[in-house]
Amino acid sequence: MTNSLRRPLIAGNWKMFLDLAGSVALARGVAAGAPPDGPEVVVAVPFTALTVVGEVLKGSKVKLAAQNLHWEKEGAFTGEVSAAQLKDAGCAAVVIGHSERRQFFGETDETVKKRLTAALAAGLLPIVCVGETLAEREDGRTFKVLETQLTGALTGFGPSQLATLVVAYEPVWAIGTGKTATPAQAQEAHLFIRKTCERLHGAALAAGLRILYGGSVKPDNADALMSEPDLDGALVGGASLKADSFLRIVKFSAPARA
Ligand code: PEP
Repeated sequence: MTNSLRRPLIAGNWKMFLDLAGSVALARGVAAGAPPDGPEVVVAVPFTALTVVGEVLKGSKVKLAAQNLHWEKEGAFTGEVSAAQLKDAGCAAVVIGHSERRQFFGETDETVKKRLTAALAAGLLPIVCVGETLAEREDGRTFKVLETQLTGALTGFGPSQLATLVVAYEPVWAIGTGKTATPAQAQEAHLFIRKTCERLHGAALAAGLRILYGGSVKPDNADALMSEPDLDGALVGGASLKADSFLRIVKFSAPARA
């Protein structure tokens, strides 16, 4: 759970699910149930639902996010959506480099960095995803992979540019599989991510950096995960598609720490 420097953040990733009516209903449920004094709450919704969900969330404490963005400002890039268009649609945040984009749509550390640059320039809160595959973990390469992904995405910025950065550690083998990293496995990876960011951008950035865990977070494992000192929140896929399960995660209970 977060310390006083880091406000917890729980983000839902709706992926390519829900029609407009379902999106509106879910957004209403989340907005109505998110506790006013709880963690920061974000929902990353499909592009087509951004404006309708944005209307529902107006005046609530839940923030609207997109699941991707393109790095160019505008132009002949059929099928892409720019940071300015996301802002115009009401977004406050954006998910970048999700493993499904890396796996299925050719996302690389270089394109993650371009998207991050565009998101920061537009004032969108960037949630940059990193994580190893099962083969990489079994080969003992987890830290190497995380280091490469972080270095590739985060070099070339000054620490003040990255003040709003959020990193999501999402082991690929845990996403949508029902296999969650143990709290100890997640903590080990989060600490490594924090140390790597400290090496890249200094102690102050690392101390304030929010690192979310993602990978089959559910109501019944959220409390244990969030009890680890370097877990500052969660990126939730499947369990974010129902207001009651998502809100139970939002209302996680973890011992306070200094
Ligand atoms: C995700 O979409 O980033 C995710 C972690 O999904 P799930 O919670 O379903 O594993």
